[in-house]
Amino acid sequence: MEGAAKRELIAENEALRARLADLLEQASRNQEIMSRHQAFDLEIVAASSFAQLVGTIFRALPAICGLDVVTLTLVDPGADIYMVMERLGVDFGGFPNLIWTEDGAGLALGEPPRPVLGPFDPARHGAAFPDQPQRPASVGLVPLLRNRRLIGSLNLGSSDPQRFTAGMGTDFIEHMASIIAICLENVISNEMLKYIGLTDALTGAYNRRYIDRRLAEEISRARRAGGALSLMFIDLDHFKRVNDSVGHQGGDEVLREAAARIKAELRLSDALARFGGEEFVVLLVDADQRSAAVVAERIRARMAHTAVELADGTPVNVTVSIGVAGLEHVDVKRPVEDLALQLLALADSALYRAKQAGRNRVVTCTA
Ligand code: GH3
Ligand code: MG
Ligand code: MG
Repeated sequence: MEGAAKRELIAENEALRARLADLLEQASRNQEIMSRHQAFDLEIVAASSFAQLVGTIFRALPAICGLDVVTLTLVDPGADIYMVMERLGVDFGGFPNLIWTEDGAGLALGEPPRPVLGPFDPARHGAAFPDQPQRPASVGLVPLLRNRRLIGSLNLGSSDPQRFTAGMGTDFIEHMASIIAICLENVISNEMLKYIGLTDALTGAYNRRYIDRRLAEEISRARRAGGALSLMFIDLDHFKRVNDSVGHQGGDEVLREAAARIKAELRLSDALARFGGEEFVVLLVDADQRSAAVVAERIRARMAHTAVELADGTPVNVTVSIGVAGLEHVDVKRPVEDLALQLLALADSALYRAKQAGRNRVVTCTA
């Protein structure tokens, strides 16, 4: 072979090798991106709570996709989801990029909803990126759909103006959004079920199961941190007579109003549960028996002084008897379950004494 032809072949060979190396490098980069995405998919599918899922999205997605900001808008007509999550203890302060809207139309994703990509426009995209220290240069807003229902929008922002452009393909982000939508729907319905299992349908107060669990938690905490804890047993007086005079339906209205009045006297950290028919239990966190008795007296007075007005205008006079017991009256060295039972028994016997003494009164534990 002539020298020139040989050199040409060698050069061609080298060029091919370099090309191949490039391709291999690209393939391994793609492989790496794919496995990062797969890891993300697995992580969000495994999320067992709303807070865990949303936390994972906000933590992992910007890093995996190389984005400057990710926000999430959730459609929540009537704010039911928000209320349930809040009552289940989700700390929204930890999720500044979580946005709620009552109406999906406000998301401006069109009908049917489609991904919106392009330069950031404050008028159109401002609601999806509120309070950002730095505005994104380009954004991708991706609808989260379940059975054609718009449940929210995943909002991706980049400082690179070329990152999201109007003509670019959306298969990938739509795929990602569909997984996120399924996971969101799952955790939300699980949390709703959890909530239903822990609350009383008539009054919206917690149920006995919740208070049993919470009581054990709070006793452990109070014991660890040395804090105070008190319990109230509240029973409506002569409730059989109320039912007899205004009917069961009217009685139900009275129960609902009683729960609302009790709740209005409590702090957010306290927990109100309907324990049985016309009995309520209140757990007062960080309150000793003496301060719990003050709250109990406010509840008693409020019930006694203002008749409950039924929907048809009928006024119903109803009083309550309340027994109060604080953790300071039990032997905190005993197991948590014993303490919970003991505290309940002390409040119950104080209630019994309130009934014996003529009802419409607060009796504190003297053990
Ligand atoms: P006391 O002052 O001794 O507590 O008298 P009481 O009539 O309230 O006593 P008791 O506990 O014997 O009766 C409770 C009544 O509450 C009986 C029951 O019909 C009624 N009740 C229980 N659950 C419900 C409910 O969900 N709705 C209505 N309307 N009434 C209920
Ligand atoms: Mg009663
Ligand atoms: Mg009773």
